[in-house]
Amino acid sequence: MTEIHLVGRPTGMPTADLFAFVEHEPLELRLGTALVENVLLSVDPYMRECMDEEWDLHSPLEGRALGRVVESRTPDYSVGDIVFHRKSWRTHAVVSAAESRRIEDLPDVPLSAHLGILGGTGLSAYVGLVRVAKLQPGETVFISAAAGGVGTAAGRLARLLGAGRVIGSTGTAAKANHLVSNVGFDAAFSYRDGPITESLAKAAPDGIDVYLDNVGGDHLAAAIDVLKPRGRIAWCGAVSTYNHEASAAPHNLYDIVEKQLRLEGFLVSSHRDARPELLELLVPHLQAGRVVSDETVVSGFDSMVEAFLAMLRGENTGKMLVRVV
Ligand code: NAP
Repeated sequence: MTEIHLVGRPTGMPTADLFAFVEHEPLELRLGTALVENVLLSVDPYMRECMDEEWDLHSPLEGRALGRVVESRTPDYSVGDIVFHRKSWRTHAVVSAAESRRIEDLPDVPLSAHLGILGGTGLSAYVGLVRVAKLQPGETVFISAAAGGVGTAAGRLARLLGAGRVIGSTGTAAKANHLVSNVGFDAAFSYRDGPITESLAKAAPDGIDVYLDNVGGDHLAAAIDVLKPRGRIAWCGAVSTYNHEASAAPHNLYDIVEKQLRLEGFLVSSHRDARPELLELLVPHLQAGRVVSDETVVSGFDSMVEAFLAMLRGENTGKMLVRVV
């Protein structure tokens, strides 16, 4: 049994030497708990923020995970059950029913989707578009970090919700082509290929109604420039700032007043009650093959740190996951 610890704090982009693989004795199973062998682990941008101070050094780290029950001392779980829990960055974990939930086996839906489009990733996209931005049929929506987990889910959901035009930005021309060819975006551009406002204005000559912001900074400034009067911004994240290389606040924030825009931030953790709506909408489409959970899956627990760093560098398309077994 092995767990990964943080052993130092990063400055800027983190490096692999800040993590250590630590072997430990078999975990003790108290009454009311189950031992799970982790199967799939999620690596997420917020983890970079946790590295600054939230995560203790030389301790087990948290994160979203799916594990298979291998031993149970609780009536809630049987051997073989798949459970969702937050004891990631380790090969095994002991969980109670209160800190985990069983994953329902959905025919023709891959297990990984429960950490992707059906998990917190897809739920973030859904909450941003539906609850916060209140996207209406026919509207034009712009999504940043569009080739990532939240971004691809948002693109597919926007289509299902009847968006008129779906526009995405990402870090390479190849990923932009992928969004248009395979994910259902109408237009996409690389933010490295020129000023973002110009690229966005070209992709949305009539302006945008809704912006789902995953990036902050220059992306948010460009969206404020191109949004139509009374447009809405659902602020989901600011990945361009997590390594402290940029400021999340846009230079033109006050234009929000002039254009009467609405900007609202949200945390998916406050919207878990929306999960049944998301499943009701998506599961039939997933089962029919009309929608897929976009993901990059890296194999092996040994690859966990590298997968996390690769995600921060933008080497993923869709949700970045690690398959342990
Ligand atoms: P993701 O988009 O799958 O992965 C992160 C992506 O960020 C990378 O693939 C990279 O793609 C992009 N990126 C890295 N550095 C960047 C930079 N300097 N400028 C622009 N893009 C950059 O991750 P995710 O899990 O789906 O998360 C996306 C966003 O949603 C993050 O901001 C995250 O914090 C936020 N989020 C918020 C909530 C919430 O409750 N509010 C929940 C989940 C996620 P490129 O190739 O495009 O650069």
